[in-house]
Amino acid sequence: MTEPDVEAPERVARPAVAELDEILGLPLRVLDDGFVRVVDYLGSDAAIVQAARVSYGAGTRQLQEDRGLLRYLMRHRHSTPFEMCELKLHVRVPMDCWRQWIRHRTANVNEYSTRYSVAIDAMYHTSADNWRLQANHNRQGSAGVLDAAAGETLSRRELELQQQAREVYQERLAHGVARELARKDLPLSTYTEAYWKIDLHNLLHFLALRLDGHAQQEIRSYAQTIGHEIVRRWCPLTWEAFVDYRLHRLELTRRDLEVVRAFHAGGKAAAIVRAQEVELLPPAGTTSYPRNRERDELEQKLTLLGLPVPWRE
Ligand SMILES: Cc1cc2nc3c(=O)[nH]c(=O)nc-3n(C[C@H](O)[C@H](O)[C@H](O)COP(=O)(O)OP(=O)(O)OC[C@H]3O[C@@H](n4cnc5c(N)ncnc54)[C@H](O)[C@@H]3O)c2cc1C
Repeated sequence: MTEPDVEAPERVARPAVAELDEILGLPLRVLDDGFVRVVDYLGSDAAIVQAARVSYGAGTRQLQEDRGLLRYLMRHRHSTPFEMCELKLHVRVPMDCWRQWIRHRTANVNEYSTRYSVAIDAMYHTSADNWRLQANHNRQGSAGVLDAAAGETLSRRELELQQQAREVYQERLAHGVARELARKDLPLSTYTEAYWKIDLHNLLHFLALRLDGHAQQEIRSYAQTIGHEIVRRWCPLTWEAFVDYRLHRLELTRRDLEVVRAFHAGGKAAAIVRAQEVELLPPAGTTSYPRNRERDELEQKLTLLGLPVPWRE
């Protein structure tokens, strides 16, 4: 009997990415005393393509170059192939920033224990020229900075507060108070450290949220380091597709589209009428425009599209 003519699958080598290997283990500085360090990684652009081709079958191989396939996957949110890649980071982050970071539930985390060990003796300092002011229109945001003289005072006062908090903490420890209790008055500026492992799909979700202008500047700094320094080296084709199709995409809602279509069909007057009909503008005859967040967002989109804001001109 003859053997069936079945081709044995090729042996596939473990993916290695030389560009990422160059920075493996190196702490990449963030803020004044924080860092992000790549501990390990699994996969590469090639691993994503390899996984995707299993689902699409060999027949499509000739149709798509790796780059084209990755870009297709990203555009169409075919996300599971991106889960084939994993990144393990060692991070050092101020606790208030970590509190935002830890909300991303799809990572595996092991954090430094201040019950078990003495709290890290480092706190995030705000420099005199970086005391951001409360934004008027965004209750969660900041805009502009405090003048330098007032900033000097606040930075000096911050240092005094942080030093005192540390001294009180050390005093409690010296009296034998348990670390789990002694820590309770340490400020949120105290640095913590963690191992953080996440797959690329969920990492990109984290980056999309935390690179956004609405995210707080401190966590954005970490996201920038992870995105631009790490993911760009690790999976350059995926990073490029992510920048094109996620970071810089513009999403139009049904109401947005109706206003844009009306503008193209009948100019500003028609766009205003449609905006009133879809309740983005108050009814005709109303003289004031009470704030409407959805309309603010549409105005930003129109500006990005190079179109006038009909009710503002
Ligand atoms: C600018 C900004 C402002 C924010 N403000 C606030 C705030 O004021 N208050 C506040 O509490 N939080 C706030 N957050 C945190 C935010 O609500 C999310 O908790 C955080 O961004 C994590 O997002 P996620 O749940 O999508 O991510 P992940 O936890 O990483 O989850 C990724 C995705 O997995 C899925 N998923 C994960 N777990 C579940 C689950 N249990 N059930 C269903 N689906 C799941 C979801 O699709 C989710 O999008 C803010 C976040 C940002 C970026």
